[in-house]
Amino acid sequence: MISPPQIRASARGVSLVGVTKRYDELLVIPSLDLEIAPGELVTLLGPSGSGKTTTLMMVTGFTTPTSGRILIDGREVTHVPPHRRNVGVVFQQYALFPHMTVAENVAFPLQMRGVSGAAAAERVRAALDLVELSALGHRFPAALSGGQQQRVAFARAIVFDPPVLLLDEPLGALDKKLREALQIEIKALHTRLGLTMIYVTHDQSEALAISDRAAVMNHGRIEQIGAPADLYERPASRFVADFIGEASVIRGTLMGTADGRSTVSTARNGTFVVDASAGLPPGTAVDLVLRPEAIVVGPSAAAMTNRVTGILLDSAYVGESTRYRLRLPGGEIVMARVQNRRGQRLPATPGDGIAAGWDPADAIVFAAQGAQL
Ligand code: ADP
Ligand code: MG
Repeated sequence: MISPPQIRASARGVSLVGVTKRYDELLVIPSLDLEIAPGELVTLLGPSGSGKTTTLMMVTGFTTPTSGRILIDGREVTHVPPHRRNVGVVFQQYALFPHMTVAENVAFPLQMRGVSGAAAAERVRAALDLVELSALGHRFPAALSGGQQQRVAFARAIVFDPPVLLLDEPLGALDKKLREALQIEIKALHTRLGLTMIYVTHDQSEALAISDRAAVMNHGRIEQIGAPADLYERPASRFVADFIGEASVIRGTLMGTADGRSTVSTARNGTFVVDASAGLPPGTAVDLVLRPEAIVVGPSAAAMTNRVTGILLDSAYVGESTRYRLRLPGGEIVMARVQNRRGQRLPATPGDGIAAGWDPADAIVFAAQGAQL
């Protein structure tokens, strides 16, 4: 049931300009620039300790940057206290008040802002409607499931119409099915409310599923920011390629480039053709990064431009697809994922020689990292 959207803020942009953060000796954020458009949903994605929460907390005002500026709607708020920034926040731990009912929890931010009586009741009703919990306003948090508690936290964060909503791993404590269902709901609420949202997660599939743009963070820096498909298909670094999705790597040497295609030779896997190689000079050691769905295995590999035969290490049937791991003659392990359409599974057992192939456009080329294999 969709009620009229009585909770509707006007979105505001958020900017971080040359922001740094130091904890004593530890430089957590060396320098961060980030521009978020009004109404955009941007995720901060990165491994644990990469500075996502620190960045978010500087936007809330609970943490102060060591240097740099934070602007909301073009207005500098770097030293404005949290309660005067008008941003909503949802944390992983729901942080509901256990001694208050659901409705009282949601009403709390209104009380703090001096809104009471019928006006407050109406807002609480609209916020609970929005998260489909109108029937549970009288319950206490302990009598709710984890997913329901998180919906209450969401209602409480938006009840006062904040133009910016910040969420720090809000679904981290929930199981996979519920997480995926709530991802869809959060995205729908984002569209409906027109809020600017900054969403922190370490889960790359979650970031791909919900973001307008995702910023991939590593050691307090943004390695790349872009739409989900850009990050997955055109990662700017090995870190991004490894962090977003699954990737197999083949090490080789760039031989030459002609007509937009490059040749890469390897010590023991033969020679491969790739699409233009990012302006790298001949002789450069390169890593070819391959996505599992780009690798064709079995008889159909014979039709591909790039081919190599590997030894099947193992295969795993995972429902919609089967995952094969092959060891190449050069020792690299590559992973292929094949959709389980009728007749697509290979009648192969570990130890069998299996042909693998891929299209030149499907290998992502980077200057090699680390030691030569
Ligand atoms: P993430 O949310 O990406 O996991 P955080 O922003 O929480 O990362 O942490 C980034 C780094 O800053 C970590 O190395 C963490 O230990 C450090 N850190 C975070 N908060 C503090 C603090 N209050 N004092 C000292 N170090 C901190
Ligand atoms: Mg964190």
